[in-house]
Amino acid sequence: MEINNAYLDEVYARVCARNAGEKEFLQAVKEVFTTLIPVVEKRPDIVESGVIEQIVEPERFIQFRVAWLDDNGKMQINRGFRVQYNSAIGPYKGGLRLHPSVCSSVIKFLGFEQIFKNSLTGLPMGGGKGGSDFDPKGKSDAEVMRFCQAFMTELFKYIGPNEDVPAGDIGVGAREIGYLFGQYKRITGDFSGVLTGKGLTYGGSLVRKQATGYGLCYFTNNMLKAKNDSFKGKTVVISGSGNVAIYACEKSTQLGAKVVAMSDSNGYIYDADGIKLDVVKAIKEGRRGRIKEYIDAVPTATYTDGCRGIWNIKCDIALPCATQNEIDEADAKKLIANGVKYVCEGANMPSTIEAINAFLSAGVYFGPAKAANAGGVATSGLEMSQNSIRLSWTAEEVDQKLEGIMKSIYDNASKAAKEYATEDNLVAGANIAGFLKVAEAMMAQGAL
Ligand code: NDP
Repeated sequence: MEINNAYLDEVYARVCARNAGEKEFLQAVKEVFTTLIPVVEKRPDIVESGVIEQIVEPERFIQFRVAWLDDNGKMQINRGFRVQYNSAIGPYKGGLRLHPSVCSSVIKFLGFEQIFKNSLTGLPMGGGKGGSDFDPKGKSDAEVMRFCQAFMTELFKYIGPNEDVPAGDIGVGAREIGYLFGQYKRITGDFSGVLTGKGLTYGGSLVRKQATGYGLCYFTNNMLKAKNDSFKGKTVVISGSGNVAIYACEKSTQLGAKVVAMSDSNGYIYDADGIKLDVVKAIKEGRRGRIKEYIDAVPTATYTDGCRGIWNIKCDIALPCATQNEIDEADAKKLIANGVKYVCEGANMPSTIEAINAFLSAGVYFGPAKAANAGGVATSGLEMSQNSIRLSWTAEEVDQKLEGIMKSIYDNASKAAKEYATEDNLVAGANIAGFLKVAEAMMAQGAL
C-alpha cells in the first residue's frame, strides 16, 4: 500500500472498502493521510483516541430528490446533497456546487477538505459541502430560480445560522444565493445569516465576492516574500474564468504581475499584452458567455480549443482556479520544463497527487488549496460575524482582515511544515496544522 505507515494503511484500506469507487474522495483522503505519518509517529494519543478513523466518516450525509418545472412546464429531476462532515470546532460551513459532475464522491472530497481548510482560517467553522448535478448552463433565470427554490425546500430542514451555513462554489454565485436565501426565509420566516455570499442589500459582506481570488494572491505573496521575491514583473497563467479566477487575475495585476492566459471548460485565451479583465468580466459576469468571445474584443489575443493546453504556456506563477484534477503529472512536467517557480491552488484539489509530487521534487514552491483558497470561507466567516453583531464593516476593514488571515494561514502551514516535514512542504504543513486543531477539539469533546 502506498501510504507506508501500518496504521494509516489499515485505516485507508477500510475507507476504500466503505467508499468503493469514490475516486475523488479516496484521493483527498490519501493525500491527507500521506502527510499525517509524522503526526501518527509523534502522537500516540491521537492514534489511540480513534480520531483519525472518525474524521474520515461524515457526521451526516444527506441526499435528496430535487423536482422542478422547466420553462416548458416539464418536470425535471436532479439529485441534491449536503454532507455535514465535522462540527468539532464550529457549525458546518462550506459551499454548494451546481455542476453535472456533482456526485457523492465529489461532495465528500470537498467536505473532507473543508474541515482542514476551515480549521486553518482560525475561525470557528466546521466542515460541510453540498450541491447538485443540476447544470445551470443554458437555463433561463426563471429555471435557475425554480431549481434553487426546490433545492432549498428540502435543504432548509438541515441548516441554520448555528448549525450549518452554506455558501457558493462552482455554479453558485450571488444570483443563486439570493434565490436560496429568499426561499429559506419564505419557508421559515427567519431572517438570519443562514447563507453567506449574500447580496450587499440583505446582509452580504463587502469583499466576499473577491475574497477567494484576492486571498489566493495574498497567500502567494507570502510564498514569494519568503523567497525574497514578489509579483512584480512576473508572468502568470490562471485557469478558469469564474469567480475565483477573475479576482485572482485582478489582484495579481494590482500586485504588478502580467496575467497572460485564462480558460473555461471549452478552451483558453492567450494575450501576450496582459489579459484585459474588464473584457473577461463583461463576458463572464455580465452575459454568462464563453471565454472565446474575448478575441472578438481583443483581436491580438488568441483562442485555443481544449482547456488543458493552457499549461503549455510559459509562466513564472501558475494559479489553477477551475476544478479538481485539472493538472496531472504530464501538465506539471510541462509547467516545470517551462520554468514555473510557484504554483498556488485556487480551485479545490486541482493537482493530482502525482502532479504535486512532481512539483515538490522539482523544487517548485507549491501552495495547496486547503491553505491558499481559504480566503473565501474566511470572509464568509467574517460575513457571519457581521450578521451576528448586525453591523457591516467597510471594504478596507474586511480586506485587511482577509490579508491578515491569509498571512497567519501561511505562517501556521509553514511552521507545521518545518516542525513535522520539510521546510517548504506546505502540503504537509497545511494538512497537519488544520488536522491538529480539529483532532484536539474532538478529543477534548470526548471523541473516543
Ligand atoms: P465558477 O462557477 O465561478 O467558475 C468555474 C470556472 O471553472 C469556470 O471558468 C468553468 O468553466 C471552469 N470549470 C468548471 N468545471 C470545469 C471542468 N470540469 N473543466 C474545466 N473547467 C471547468 O466557480 P468558482 O470560481 O467559484 O470555483 C472555481 C474553483 O474554486 C472550484 O474548484 C471551487 O471549489 C474553488 N473554490 C471556490 C470558492 C469560492 O469562494 N467561490 C472558495 C474556495 C474554492 P465553464 O464556465 O466552462 O464551466
